[in-house]
Amino acid sequence: MGKNSETLFERAKKVMPGGVNSPVRAFKSVGMTPRFIDKACGNKIYDIEGKEYLDYVGSWGPMILGHADPKVIAAVQKRVEKGLSFGACTELEVELAELICENIPHVEMIRMVNSGTEAVMSALRAARGYTKKNKIIKFEGCYHGHSDAMLVKAGSGAMTFGDPDSAGVTKGAAEDTLLARYNDLASVEALMKENKEDVACVIVEATAANMGVVPAAEGFLAGLRALCDKYGALLIFDEVITGFRLAFGGAAEYFGVTPDLVTYGKIIGGGMPVGAYGGRKEIMECVSPLGSVYQAGTLSGNPIAMTAGIETLKQLLADPGIYDRLNEMGAYLADGLRQSCGFTVNNIGSLACMFYTTEPVTDYESAQKSDTVRFSHVFSGLLDAGIYVAPSQYEAMFINSCFTRSELDYTIETYSKLINGVK
Ligand SMILES: *Cc1c(COP(=O)(O)O)cnc(C)c1O
Repeated sequence: MGKNSETLFERAKKVMPGGVNSPVRAFKSVGMTPRFIDKACGNKIYDIEGKEYLDYVGSWGPMILGHADPKVIAAVQKRVEKGLSFGACTELEVELAELICENIPHVEMIRMVNSGTEAVMSALRAARGYTKKNKIIKFEGCYHGHSDAMLVKAGSGAMTFGDPDSAGVTKGAAEDTLLARYNDLASVEALMKENKEDVACVIVEATAANMGVVPAAEGFLAGLRALCDKYGALLIFDEVITGFRLAFGGAAEYFGVTPDLVTYGKIIGGGMPVGAYGGRKEIMECVSPLGSVYQAGTLSGNPIAMTAGIETLKQLLADPGIYDRLNEMGAYLADGLRQSCGFTVNNIGSLACMFYTTEPVTDYESAQKSDTVRFSHVFSGLLDAGIYVAPSQYEAMFINSCFTRSELDYTIETYSKLINGVK
């Protein structure tokens, strides 16, 4: 014993930037020390001091079946003994690709990569290669991983050429990224008109979950589809969070709107590092070695990651009631929080997010009305009460299939006590 998160974080900070391998883990925005996690099971995680938490992060989404799912773990254990990777073809890659292509009509072909970032970066290249156009329209507040061209948000409401959001990104890398406003079709059409012949694609989180949860408004996605068709651009749904979560076929299935390309991550790897991009055959046929859009990966499609993905997706397919149950829990939690706390709570499927404002949140600008100081107070109280939510206002609560009604009730009661006490 004697190990605790504070001393580990001190060690970590000496050898890793900010003590972490991904910034949001640092608890910086809430001014606290991150908990170091030892293990997890179902919807509970345990820190290295043995404290148990109800987990609403779920590894940022992958753990839709709960942590350490017995079937996923058993399959991975069995597979590990045959070797970790070969850098050569395996049957497992074919199996995972078939599981997806046979069950999601708009994915005719798919390519595995190792992260959501890589999936987006590659899909954008394919879109540019296929259309032979240069510009990309993205939305303020949508996150698409950390590739140069996507690290652009610009000032509030700006619909202009992007300024990089990060040091180390050249103006050139960002200047072909155009910014539109989420849930605002007019902002997209204006950009299409201005850049008539040169928009390769529109990329969108078909329900935004990286500015808090902001669902696509009625008609928004269908409107994007129509604008893309009118101006000869491809429509890309970034389904890294929504894929296999809102429905097996993701937001595309949920909303009934068909994109040209989709990107996946998170759930598709069942907790292992996997991403994928896929879509219409004639576009995917542009990808190397068939076509001239180069994209490769030493560990892409490796057997361990494929096994975790296959076992996760198979269970989702084998349980036709799972999405109804997940979505019902999401609605129950959101309704309870809304009623007992009086703030805006956005919810779609098994994603939810409380904003510390009473005004509606429909885009990046309105999301920023949330009182993040209030968020930090509540976050800290939740942690003390054994409830682990993402350490940032602008993230989702992820529900997995292991939650019970009484755990959701406990969560609602705890929020209510903290909020009505802090007021
Ligand atoms: C997480 C996320 C990504 C990036 O995925 P990584 O695996 O972290 O690189 C891209 N798009 C969306 C919508 C995401 O939520």
